[in-house]
Amino acid sequence: MKLNTTGLIIKEQNLDENDKIVTALTKDYGVIKAFAKNAKNIRKSLSTGVSLLSFSKLDIFVGKESYIINDAGSIEIFFELRKDIFKMAMAQYFCELAGALCPTDAPANEQLSIILNALHLLCKTDKTPLLIKPCVELRLLCAAGYMPDLVMCSTCGAYEQKTMHFLPKSGKLCCAECYNKTVFTPEDGTQNYSHANKKTAPEPGVEIDMGIVTALRHITFVPAAKLFSFELPQESLVRLNQLTELYLAYTVQQDFVTLKFLKGCL
Ligand SMILES: [Zn+2]
Repeated sequence: MKLNTTGLIIKEQNLDENDKIVTALTKDYGVIKAFAKNAKNIRKSLSTGVSLLSFSKLDIFVGKESYIINDAGSIEIFFELRKDIFKMAMAQYFCELAGALCPTDAPANEQLSIILNALHLLCKTDKTPLLIKPCVELRLLCAAGYMPDLVMCSTCGAYEQKTMHFLPKSGKLCCAECYNKTVFTPEDGTQNYSHANKKTAPEPGVEIDMGIVTALRHITFVPAAKLFSFELPQESLVRLNQLTELYLAYTVQQDFVTLKFLKGCL
């Protein structure tokens, strides 16, 4: 059986001088791992088509136990990324995220287009990486079934307040009033408040203004084609990045090596 699809090469592992195993995020089959035999010796077109960060037309043979790439023709290789260590580090982080969050053997058209758009913006435009990164993180988490509940305060239902708190552990919002409210309940059922229990917010949260709340709602709810089309002040973008990283860390219990490297480039 053969598979014909398009995909972005998100990982390559050399087996020996000629052969390698590549991981691709494909449009029709999600994340797949395949052998690329003689990848370095045969035609240059195949060699380029199975290189890291190449978006390629893939012709894959389905063997008994593994996939084997018959042919690969690159459509876009994002060459400019290779000239900038920071952008390259970010691109590799997106690849690691895709490997962790995208489905295997199921279509991943939306996730693939999000990452391709992110790479295009990194490569060809001056869109700040600080905006691109949280969009990719949060939207891939949403697609993987981890959509945060951003409609209203999870306690009182308020849609907006001057400041809200994002609760990264549960992925909920809590308005400042509820977050800061301290409720005293006498333990003995009397009005004697001297033995009162102090109730605080359900979990530690990150304080955010409505600009960031709106950005979070935008990232979560808009069609993928409009994902990157908003603006925020630099300071808010920094906070947004902290927040999506925290949510990612709580949701996916995994160390992202490329994220550590990326931070080292800052
Ligand atoms: Zn509230």
